[in-house]
Amino acid sequence: MINQSLQYKHQNPILRFIDHIQKNGECWDWTSTRKDGYGTFWYKGKIRYAHRISYEFFRGDITDNLQIDHLCRNRSCVNPDHLEAVTQAVNVQRGSSPRLTAKRQTSKTHCPHGHPYDESNTYYCPKGFRKCIECRRTQQRVDYKKSRLKIPSVHR
Ligand SMILES: [Zn+2]
Ligand SMILES: [Zn+2]
Repeated sequence: MINQSLQYKHQNPILRFIDHIQKNGECWDWTSTRKDGYGTFWYKGKIRYAHRISYEFFRGDITDNLQIDHLCRNRSCVNPDHLEAVTQAVNVQRGSSPRLTAKRQTSKTHCPHGHPYDESNTYYCPKGFRKCIECRRTQQRVDYKKSRLKIPSVHR
């Protein structure tokens, strides 16, 4: 019986993963091992950063040249809504390097995630702002996956 349940967890790494999360306000705090403040998790035969696994599970693959930035500045947080894939350059800029901030530029032809603002990928919200359809689709997928997982909250 023990073997069976172990195997079950092994086949469902995301269930094992969820075991280590506790909601703390808006953040999902990692309760297991950490490295440099970032949560770590044993996955597919090696130690990986927990927030990267969360991003991959909820949002999709991370392209090689991208880093995952914490919008909430809480390194141990693995809430997919607080994670954003950015190029290394953007991450360095955000990390408070004043010399680089001048170089910062937001392309108006693409959304912050690099999807093109073309006819098939653009919609206008009621306030008239341009929105990226691809990003909305991703967010809907994240919300759906989140709604199906029970993340325990911290009891105070
Ligand atoms: Zn957070
Ligand atoms: Zn987008």
